[in-house]
Amino acid sequence: MMSPSHPNFEPARPCNFERVTPPPYMLIGGKCVLGQGSPERIVNPATGEVIGSVPEATPDQIEQAAQAARQAFPKWKRTPVRERTHCLLAMAARIEARLAELATLESYNCGKPYALMLREEMSAVVDVFRYFAGAARALDAPAAAEYVPDHTSFVRRDPLGVVAAIAPWNYPLLMAAWKICPAVAAGNTIVLKPSELTPLSILALIESFAEIFPPGVVNIIYGRGETVGTPLAARPEVRMVSLTGDIVTGQKILEGTARSIKRTHLELGGKAPVIVCADADLEAAIAGIRAYGYYNAGQDCTAACRVYAHDSVYERFVADLAASVSTIKVGDPHDCDVEMGPCISARQRDRVASFVERARRQSHIEIICGGAALARHGFFFSPTVIANTLPQDEIERKEVFGPVVSVGRFHDLEEAIRLANDSDYGLASSVWSRDSATALRVAADLEFGTTWINTHFTLASEMPHGGSRKSGHGKEQSRYALEDYTTPRHVMVRL
Ligand code: NAD
Repeated sequence: MMSPSHPNFEPARPCNFERVTPPPYMLIGGKCVLGQGSPERIVNPATGEVIGSVPEATPDQIEQAAQAARQAFPKWKRTPVRERTHCLLAMAARIEARLAELATLESYNCGKPYALMLREEMSAVVDVFRYFAGAARALDAPAAAEYVPDHTSFVRRDPLGVVAAIAPWNYPLLMAAWKICPAVAAGNTIVLKPSELTPLSILALIESFAEIFPPGVVNIIYGRGETVGTPLAARPEVRMVSLTGDIVTGQKILEGTARSIKRTHLELGGKAPVIVCADADLEAAIAGIRAYGYYNAGQDCTAACRVYAHDSVYERFVADLAASVSTIKVGDPHDCDVEMGPCISARQRDRVASFVERARRQSHIEIICGGAALARHGFFFSPTVIANTLPQDEIERKEVFGPVVSVGRFHDLEEAIRLANDSDYGLASSVWSRDSATALRVAADLEFGTTWINTHFTLASEMPHGGSRKSGHGKEQSRYALEDYTTPRHVMVRL
């Protein structure tokens, strides 16, 4: 999900984790308060050790947060956009000043390689704050005009009110930024619930949010989906629910909001197809899949995980891909040359293993490399390449969300496009070809929120990110996110 990294980057060593671990405060109405609900244990996935405990919000605290956001809304909405966006710029500066500390927390809590955190994800977070600070000042609309004689019409783009934002564990701080920034830049107030598994990095920023934003504009509460996420989304003060998570969670949110007809903004799973054409630069495609199929241990909704290679290059491609993937350095996330860390939890690793085991039992399928949990502490699974998969195989159809890439084959481009589009998911895709006309033709026919040509995975704050079909229907990033967090209103003046 990253922007290209700086080639001359020299990663610093991580900070002392014990020293930077923040107290588990929530932020409600401008006050830093401890949750009064049951504690949730926080685990380091690289070792399996418990590294902290964060108490969740009680029903009273959920209500207080929603009410604080509701009370803050009228004033925040009338605050000039310039002043609103100054808060985002101030947050960007605070985050930038603490990149190493935040990267350390994210790395401990998620098992992500520290060097990648520092170089890519944390600077992407800063960029999101800065992008929305600028973009919110440049919203556009149709020209005001007399569309009906003697009546002047114009469009206002107004915020909705209180946004309940529910975030996942795979990019804790980045997903929080994707939700907080467009929501508050556009004049909404927000209650954010991070994943119960990964609150540490956002927790470190609680005091900064409290100091920079007026009370109630940004509220942050912790807890599990069922006990905190569901009642938060159901609060009558909430006008919009923004979720990044699993399809099943999205379905539950939709069921819950069906009666109130709240706006929903859903970013759900993915199963990105990667079409490797006969004329592709195979070395580049393999390097791309090695990097973008296994980043964050494959726990990425856009991961390059469902490859279709042309018949004429299939055998060579599979052999070279497996050889390359076998060299991925897996291990302690704090070693600067480690490329892949563990899965987020024992449950997630076991889920990945069960997908691979079911695939292994199919006689036509071959596990070319990896295919097992690593015999060491923590929740590691080896980078895996699975070949000879067919369109109906579970491993091609379901999101594994782990370091597992399947490779099927195609005979002609029509078939490749059909195979790619025949999916419940519609988030991301890529096509690899030396012929730009071929690549553009395939890109036009793919039905995914993003299609990359001769690359995969790289995002830009200025460009929309979001899916179709069961991958959801909201757009993150870009001016389209600002549109999602606002409503266009027609004002007509009789002359
Ligand atoms: P999840 O759905 O289990 O949890 C996501 C969030 O929803 C968490 O904060 C969780 O506490 C909350 N939640 C769970 N059940 C809830 C309920 N019933 N009501 C309200 N809230 C509830 O997902 P996850 O395991 O944290 O994240 C992985 C999933 O997220 C994958 O499917 C992945 O593809 C998806 N994802 C999508 C994108 C995207 O941009 N489309 C980005 C990142 C992750």
